[in-house]
Amino acid sequence: MKHNNISIFIPHQGCNHACSFCNQNIISGAKKQPTPKDVTEILSQSIDIIKDKADTEIAFFGGSFTAINRQYMLSLLEAANEFVGDNKFAGIRISTRPDAIDNEVLSILIRYNVTSIELGAQSMCDDVLELNNRGHSSSDVVKASKLIKKHGFSLGLQMMVGLYGDTVDGARFTANEIAKIKPDTVRIYPTVILKGTKLAQLYLSGEYKVMPLETAIGLCAELLLFFIQNKIKVIKLGLHASNDIESDMLGGIYHPAFKELCENTIYMQKAIETLQKQNSKNVIIYVKLGNVSKMIGQKKINIEKLSNMGYNVKVMEKKELNDFEIIVKDVQDCY
Ligand code: SF4
Repeated sequence: MKHNNISIFIPHQGCNHACSFCNQNIISGAKKQPTPKDVTEILSQSIDIIKDKADTEIAFFGGSFTAINRQYMLSLLEAANEFVGDNKFAGIRISTRPDAIDNEVLSILIRYNVTSIELGAQSMCDDVLELNNRGHSSSDVVKASKLIKKHGFSLGLQMMVGLYGDTVDGARFTANEIAKIKPDTVRIYPTVILKGTKLAQLYLSGEYKVMPLETAIGLCAELLLFFIQNKIKVIKLGLHASNDIESDMLGGIYHPAFKELCENTIYMQKAIETLQKQNSKNVIIYVKLGNVSKMIGQKKINIEKLSNMGYNVKVMEKKELNDFEIIVKDVQDCY
């Protein structure tokens, strides 16, 4: 069943951190803080439209929800909680910093029907966290995650790829450490350099070299497969393509179809591995229902690459296959 969120963006005005990649302090003046009345209006409109309410959470995203002004946080939860329950939405989802979680705040969140908590881990390498002014350590991520799970919330962890000081091996290490925590969900964000941030300064001075897009796609394809194999759901890979991002960014790892390119890469690698084990050059590759375009690749890139390697490939669907599972058959065997 598909999970849905009704996302309400809460900018973190007055945040006393200065993470290298974040422009909250620059944009917060321009972005309006939603009031409890705004929350009620948004949810009143959504509740009549959304059919699968039992699979929909009210999501407070943007800053560090449990680190905003406490009275303001409570007023938002109060407004949202009116819309949770039988024949209403399934619960409330929030995102926050690992060091803004403790028993006291978790007991408040339980009272207001918060069901899922996402932590911005960003990296599990302490040197990367420090270089990017995160103001928390990897052990804060482990500690907060344990508390969240102990209280029975669904846990989500967010990681960034290609931060200042990060490397391919660093990202692999982060993914490994995250898998050990066994979160329910993961989001993978390639780093984008927004104007006015510390990353922007480092980039303009030449000190911060951006991970090449091809490298990032290969790496994130590997991480996606790694989390799937560890039965951890990746609910986001890449940033939403938007005019805002494209006009606010100076550079970084960005492609409007980033996730699709990673998925194309995984299918291509699987196809090559399987084809190299057999002799036929005329084959049908079977993939999961709905995944034909992922195997074919953007602008048929995978088919072209395989053709250049001497393979004549047709792609078809097979009901019983899962994501990134393939079956290769010689064309003759199919008649
Ligand atoms: S990412 Fe969150 S904690 Fe860091 S500066 Fe931005 S709002 Fe503050």
